[in-house]
Amino acid sequence: MTEIPRSHPRYASLAARERVAEGVRVGITSSQGLIAQGRGECFDYLLGERITKAAEKATEAAAALLLLARCPALSVNGNVAALAAEEMVDLATALGAPLEVNLFHRTEERAKKIADLLRSLGAARVYGDDPDAEIPRLNHARAMATRKGIWGADVVLIPLEDGDRCEALAAMGKRVIAVDLNPLSRTSRKAAVTIVDNLQRAIPNLTAKVRELSGASREELREILAGYDNRKILRQAVEEMREHLKSFAEVLDKED
Ligand code: ATP
Repeated sequence: MTEIPRSHPRYASLAARERVAEGVRVGITSSQGLIAQGRGECFDYLLGERITKAAEKATEAAAALLLLARCPALSVNGNVAALAAEEMVDLATALGAPLEVNLFHRTEERAKKIADLLRSLGAARVYGDDPDAEIPRLNHARAMATRKGIWGADVVLIPLEDGDRCEALAAMGKRVIAVDLNPLSRTSRKAAVTIVDNLQRAIPNLTAKVRELSGASREELREILAGYDNRKILRQAVEEMREHLKSFAEVLDKED
């Protein structure tokens, strides 16, 4: 990987870019993943590369939903594997939940490489390299799922997902939690809970919330969800983006 000096003002963003490029080189990320990363970077810039209040609220609701779940499952694609494999394993461990590899541009080789990576990082249950079920309404390769994992789950976390699959999972009656920097995407709008944040900030934040709320009663967790409105959260994320742009415009005005 290219060495990026820690002192570089855009270190985090450049390092993430390197990780996705390295993911492509070692065969865990598809070349299309580079485009998704670029789109994410752009929205992160507009958000101010910070955890917004909207993301904090969505993270609390996501943690409550995952802790209340009978059978939660966490989806991992090529970008997620390149950017946050260890963090996903940590979240799965905190929840006692399985991870399942699901790829938009699926090859068996890539699915196996990602599953092996997750296992090598200590994940207890990893599915996706030996699917035994299909999600209705999706074409064959993208529909592949595992009964003990996503197919049988009641709550599914889908970081960096496309809108079709999010919709298909929701149509199966699952509660879907998305992590997506784009509050306008179909995924963001179709999910029950959308964390509008960078995956690399969002997953450790969610794991910390899961640990913090793990002693809460089911009643307390249900109360968190009762007060949650995803439409409102998406509007708030757009509003926080707008405020960031406005403050930036003011800085430019002062520089004139
Ligand atoms: P949709 O079908 O939901 O409208 P899309 O076609 O915009 O989705 P893709 O091109 O598949 O989606 O990209 C996946 C999404 O992941 C994009 O919305 C992008 O902003 C987001 N994304 C990319 N990188 C990250 C990241 N590191 N953290 C969070 N979100 C990200």
